[in-house]
Amino acid sequence: MITMFKIINCLFQYLNNKLYSLRVGHFHPTGVNKFDQLFCRSPQFEKMSGRLEKRGIILVPDKSRLSIGERAFVHLEKDGTGLLVYDPATTPLIDILHESRHIAQIQRMQKSGLLGDKSIYSSKLKPLFERGAYEYELRLGEKFGFARNYKQQLVERINDYYKPSFESGFLKSQYRCHLFKVIEPSLTPKLDRTLLQQRVECGE
Ligand SMILES: [Zn+2]
Repeated sequence: MITMFKIINCLFQYLNNKLYSLRVGHFHPTGVNKFDQLFCRSPQFEKMSGRLEKRGIILVPDKSRLSIGERAFVHLEKDGTGLLVYDPATTPLIDILHESRHIAQIQRMQKSGLLGDKSIYSSKLKPLFERGAYEYELRLGEKFGFARNYKQQLVERINDYYKPSFESGFLKSQYRCHLFKVIEPSLTPKLDRTLLQQRVECGE
């Protein structure tokens, strides 16, 4: 039990810090207009904003809060309020969908009690959060026919974040396996990297 708490404390050590400073750097477009369109000009804007607000998320269209090259991020306030910060002039819908996946992951942890009142992000969890969000994008890519180079960069991001050493850490620990199931119930800790690469070619 003590070990479990130690792990939790270790996993969530950055109180009131930015949760995911993601989507940094150049990304190819998806090649599908609906997803490459600016979020705030997208026909999905009203519906998605409403859905996120219902889930307790505050949308913050404020470029000044983004670091250079950063496109969007999710931040958890001390009181547990979630913020989704984006740039109304540059952030496309696909980035908001990616961040929404992180919101779902965090909320699953909150619901399960694993997050507790520790609104904390740990770099030890980031590889899993990122794998989940990029695999979600990959599923969208397969369904809606994203460009090959977009899907390829998703696979590269997954491999970069979710390294074999990280994967084996999940496989070795029952607690971490449980954590994995809570965060990404539809995935398994073992990642078939050959199959993952093949998904880039699907629909070509
Ligand atoms: Zn992400």
